[in-house]
Amino acid sequence: MSESVIAALSRLSIEPSTRDVLQHNASESQAGWSDALSSSASSNVPVEYRLLKTLVFKPKTAKSETPLPLMVVTDDKTQTSTSAIAAETKLKELRLAVPELLKSTLDATKDDVSPLSVTQENKSKVRVLLDKDIVTSGTTYAVHARSASETVFLTGEALQRYLESTQVQLDVVAFSTLQAPNAPAAKAKPEPKSKTVDAKIPEAELIGITVRKDLDFPEWYQQVLRKGDMLDYYDVSGCYILKPWSYFVWECIQRFFDDEIRKLGVQNCYFPMFVSSDVLEREKDHIEGFAPEVAWVTRAGKSELEKPVAIRPTSETVMYPYYARWIQSHRDLPLKLNQWNSVVRWEFKHPQPFLRTREFLWQEGHTAHLTKQEAADEVLDILGLYRRVYTDLLAIPVVPGVKSEKEKFAGGLYTTTVEGYIPTTGRGIQGGTSHCLGQNFSKMFDIAVQDPKATDETRGKPEGRLHVWQNSWGLSTRTIGVMVMVHGDDKGLVMPPRVSSKQVVLVPCGLGVKVSQEVKDAVNDTCKKVAAELVRNGVRAHADLRDNYNPGFKFNDWELRGVPLRLEIGPKDLDNASVMSVRRDTGAKQAMKLDSLKTAVPELLEQIQQDMYTRADEEFKAHRKVVTDWDLFTSTLNAKNHVIIPWCEEEECEDAIKDRSARTASSEEAQDERAPSMGAKSLCIPFDQEAYPAIQGKSCPQCGKPAKRWTMFGRSY
Ligand SMILES: [Zn+2]
Repeated sequence: MSESVIAALSRLSIEPSTRDVLQHNASESQAGWSDALSSSASSNVPVEYRLLKTLVFKPKTAKSETPLPLMVVTDDKTQTSTSAIAAETKLKELRLAVPELLKSTLDATKDDVSPLSVTQENKSKVRVLLDKDIVTSGTTYAVHARSASETVFLTGEALQRYLESTQVQLDVVAFSTLQAPNAPAAKAKPEPKSKTVDAKIPEAELIGITVRKDLDFPEWYQQVLRKGDMLDYYDVSGCYILKPWSYFVWECIQRFFDDEIRKLGVQNCYFPMFVSSDVLEREKDHIEGFAPEVAWVTRAGKSELEKPVAIRPTSETVMYPYYARWIQSHRDLPLKLNQWNSVVRWEFKHPQPFLRTREFLWQEGHTAHLTKQEAADEVLDILGLYRRVYTDLLAIPVVPGVKSEKEKFAGGLYTTTVEGYIPTTGRGIQGGTSHCLGQNFSKMFDIAVQDPKATDETRGKPEGRLHVWQNSWGLSTRTIGVMVMVHGDDKGLVMPPRVSSKQVVLVPCGLGVKVSQEVKDAVNDTCKKVAAELVRNGVRAHADLRDNYNPGFKFNDWELRGVPLRLEIGPKDLDNASVMSVRRDTGAKQAMKLDSLKTAVPELLEQIQQDMYTRADEEFKAHRKVVTDWDLFTSTLNAKNHVIIPWCEEEECEDAIKDRSARTASSEEAQDERAPSMGAKSLCIPFDQEAYPAIQGKSCPQCGKPAKRWTMFGRSY
């Protein structure tokens, strides 16, 4: 077979990207093929290549007619929706071709069929739909050379030239632009379970994520969380089960943050989750901000409670009556307590795992100080820690700043925040907030001490009493959702190494049926030994020795979960005392010497962590745009940017900005309730004002009043 393929290609002056046809174990699936290629020791395997996907469909055909099958050729990971293909080709009821049809038309099987199966002899028995994206990408593809055990490496452009040379009926269409005719209507449905499964071929279900991140972000997010084993759904709406894979991330955040706040003198404690209505409603502005979302317990067993009790939406009013009791003297200050707990906010908006859930895990810190300055300093210390949770642990850039009056915490003096950015949607996301409550709550709950500086006349009198300055600050499991949204890709999660519960997986490869048991044992033992050595050196490594899965399946499985680094070990690697490493974030492959792993692997993990941050940071920076002319505001916003304007800081102006920037819904967005064409709100007034030109003399682009500070606006979650 191979000679005729090479002859046909050389007639077209197509040089395969390696000298020869590669012989390997016959494969019965794409995963098996991938495995056969990656475990091959041949120098004919290029450093970078992707698998070609070739599917042959039979359209609905009248009984009296001979069917003209449709061959679909695209990248292995490209979604091939039959309804979109049917719409493009005007064919009906596409079904995967049965073996008999493949044999009679192309002399092929599903395991060896490829564009090279098309010849001048059989050109009239088939038509071909070639993905333009693979033609223009310049990528090298693995292509079966008319045999399941033979592969040549060709570019998409060469494949097109080959197909043209056979004079087969050929259409070249960019699959990324194909639209399934029924998909939008189904998309508008909020329930994630009722998706158009029909529009997808069964094979896609096996591969993993069946939609592209950039084309159907809400569906992608649901799939990546479930298939990546982060969470499961629960039978109370808006509540989710955090599985170990995601809970580990939370534990990393807890460990870091808890150690740091101890250094600041903060102690942990626990208050009950129930609040009486009297206490909850003590502070009017505060409760107004939460009232619609408060869940109440009204019954115990069959009897109605005389007075319903609320479940805390946050604990300011729960804790402060006791602060009033415990703080009797300025010597009791500062009081710095923190709780690791959950709170309940019964939201009615569409729930989104991690981002908007009815119960969520967080920490809430509540501190009391003698002076405003001391409180103000702590607000920034805590915000600095929140920033480090994002940048240092989750590899996510954030912009620290202060909230506008409209957006600040209800009942507080001012709110500081770290603001993140989701590139796929261009929306902002509040990452964590540290509030200075001022003396508002301390006056309400009468948390006061004798002013140590009081004069003789006022000592012991009400005038000599000083209400304490208070802060509260919280960071929640929303962090995990932000991490998934920023780093994940079409293959699944991409975990930053520092928070991944498994950082490295070792997968034994190249152990086909012909390999002796002795060699298999040696490979498996090496995997075990390497994993153990890495664990001893502080790396969270795992040897995947499951014998009921082939390497291709394992690759997909760990890629879905986003494990930062994969080490492949096969018989040839043992001979060379090396392993092949594959990075999850870039896909880059690199051979590593076995005896260097205990130092090389931690270094590479650190490099991955840094690279992930750098990529996300560059992306966010590129989408923060300074605008001084109102005419450019909404168009800049619509291009998935945050917009930074010289702002007057007036509340009416903020409302006007929101109204005026609410875009006339594009047809695409109208179909997706979860991406409302909302207006922009102020996200924060960045602390780093020096990064922008002098504000003096600038006026607010919306209302024309003198600008006070540069302020970042954006659509947000
Ligand atoms: Zn204004």
